Amino acid sequence: MSNQRQRALNVVQNRTTDRVYAPADKISDFFAEEVFTMEKMRSTLAPDTFKKVEYAIKKGKKIDVETADEIAAAVKTWAISKGTTHYTHWFQPLTGSTAEKHDAFYDAHKGLEVFKGSALIQQEPDASSFPNGGIRSTFEARGYTAWDPSSPIFIWGRTLCIPTIFVSYTGEALDYKAPLLKAVEAVDKAATKVCQLFDRNVNRVSASLGCEQEYFVVDRALFNARPDLVMAGRTVFGHHPARGQQLDDHYFGSIPSRVYNYMKDFEIECLKLGIPVSTRHNEVAPAQFEVAPIFEDINVATDHNSLMMDVMDRVAERHSLKVLFHEKPFAGLNGSGKHNNWSLITSTGVNVFQPSSSARENLQFLTYLVNTIKAIHDNSGLLRASIASAGNDHRLGANEAPPAIMSVFLGSDLTAVLDELENNGNIKVDKGDNMYMKLGIDKIPQIILDNTDRNRTSPFAFTGNKFEFRAVGSDQNVAEPMTVLNLIVAKQLKEFYKVVTDRVDSGEDKKIAIVNVLRDYIKDSKAVRFEGDGYSQEWADEAEKRGLPNVKDTARALDAYVSDESKAIFEEFGVMSAVELEARNEIQHENYIMKLQIEARLISEIGRTQVVPAALKFQNKLMDNARGLKEFGVDNSHATEMLVKVNDCVNTIQTKISEMNAERAQINDIEDSRDKAIAYCDRMKAKYFDEIRDAVDRLEILIDDEDWPLLKYREMLFLR
Ligand code: ADP
Ligand code: MG
Repeated sequence: MSNQRQRALNVVQNRTTDRVYAPADKISDFFAEEVFTMEKMRSTLAPDTFKKVEYAIKKGKKIDVETADEIAAAVKTWAISKGTTHYTHWFQPLTGSTAEKHDAFYDAHKGLEVFKGSALIQQEPDASSFPNGGIRSTFEARGYTAWDPSSPIFIWGRTLCIPTIFVSYTGEALDYKAPLLKAVEAVDKAATKVCQLFDRNVNRVSASLGCEQEYFVVDRALFNARPDLVMAGRTVFGHHPARGQQLDDHYFGSIPSRVYNYMKDFEIECLKLGIPVSTRHNEVAPAQFEVAPIFEDINVATDHNSLMMDVMDRVAERHSLKVLFHEKPFAGLNGSGKHNNWSLITSTGVNVFQPSSSARENLQFLTYLVNTIKAIHDNSGLLRASIASAGNDHRLGANEAPPAIMSVFLGSDLTAVLDELENNGNIKVDKGDNMYMKLGIDKIPQIILDNTDRNRTSPFAFTGNKFEFRAVGSDQNVAEPMTVLNLIVAKQLKEFYKVVTDRVDSGEDKKIAIVNVLRDYIKDSKAVRFEGDGYSQEWADEAEKRGLPNVKDTARALDAYVSDESKAIFEEFGVMSAVELEARNEIQHENYIMKLQIEARLISEIGRTQVVPAALKFQNKLMDNARGLKEFGVDNSHATEMLVKVNDCVNTIQTKISEMNAERAQINDIEDSRDKAIAYCDRMKAKYFDEIRDAVDRLEILIDDEDWPLLKYREMLFLR
């Protein structure tokens, strides 16, 4: 037993797992114990101060310095009582992970623990180490983090963490959160106005998000023995296991005990942090699982998703496991997504996507439903761009659902309702309840919540009382797609409000105006509705006929962000300026290039230094064997045939790697980041990756198992 693979397998033989115990029997006894909750604020702050904070949070207003000082003092006392010595502004830069810069409470000059309001409100991390897409060189050298009081302060890893946004001194957003907050404000404003067409008491609409997070789990020793997993998060080589997901027995099957204990452990940590995790189960692929918290306000849900991923990563260490968030760690097996369940909820507690038992109320439901469909239809390029990444390219438009074509699934009942509304043509509708019947709206009450109509292949599906954006990548920060979704819905609702009120101003009855506008929208956006198998070639053909974009790679999908049309939308709602969009575009190109660059290097290095030497060793065995057989006058054709097969693979690997490296040297000279990203896509990934992989994977099933250097899929995926 000599190579890295075999050593790693030996380590795994001796793994044991310990049961995990919750700190208390009841979750409510420890839920959010690491969070400086509103209740804790209420009990530690002076009543006036608390009122100011509460107001600021509700209205999204600034907190003044004196108030901040009082909060800081209360937070410090609480944090120190829990054994915390350091604090940090916690933010989500465009690197894709979370960032922290720790400072001690202890002030050596004063000889005591200090935490001022100013330190709570603002901090200056070393911004030069975060991506900025040229913003900082063009504008201002420094950036700062600013406290976001609407997301609660928490303690994680013995450090007090203060959720913040990250902006440059000239005001450009350098993170994911700042644009999200603006988009959420935009949708609040537009949706509130539309709600007021139905109910004057609504004064706020908040967006809710519940993320179903998929992930893979592998043993840590096995992970460490695969340089591609370590460096790229995915395997660049590996033959399918003899038993993949064909049996479908993993889904909802029993969870292996090591993983079960890991799940329980990270769930406890999440619950202590106030993350309301609720469901856990196996996913389709072996070693793939899912966790889903209960939905929350989108801002908090976004922070919680980022924090949860961090918690999952760190807790995995305790269990000698590694969690993989990459969208496609293993070729040939299902990839991982992050289903974003999204809805809008009014200040009066009504979910606007909840069909009502009263036909009358369903006009509001239909209004939101149809406007959302229209928003997706009109802005599908932008929505596609918001989920574009090198990792997600392996899911979208590759060999699995959801496709890269953005479409909306409604289910047969709602489809029938919209069809009826559309086909009722220009009949003159009466006022009153009769109208609902004529338009088929009276049928909606029959549509029960959680109807069994499900479509796993749809990228954007209506699921009873919410939309589920299923095309989001498992590794992505959800703030990005949620920024776009809320922004385009805001734009659509604003337009709808204007059209309806114009019609009302010119004398049309309000309800009739609403119905007529919806009817137009249903017609205009019909192309984006699709009920069939999103995975099929027929859909790709049909979508093309319908004129729906089908952009398969990140390099091109990103263009939608910087079109004039998209810049105008972002600027109209103050979510991002053209400069910010351009800067982000560049960062995303660079990220994409970097990922493919790493993969190309790995393919080259592992191919040449691990795979080929193993093949040569095996060839030597074959040659000895062939010679020996010949010497004894025995037929040696099997040995020579195998020798030829192995040699073919080795030749392909060596030749293609040489060509790839030479071409990559040329590509690296390309100045423009978009051109370079496209070159990496077309002239690296598409041209070489699969062909080299194919030769390596063929070798894997030819070569003596003892000599094979890389852990096989079956060894990594079937956890004991
Ligand atoms: P599924 O059948 O898709 O698994 P679930 O009911 O389990 O649906 O919900 C999946 C996710 O959707 C959970 O995070 C859940 O909290 C969230 N969710 C449920 N209702 C809403 C809503 N109105 N708005 C946003 N998310 C919601
Ligand atoms: Mg779901």
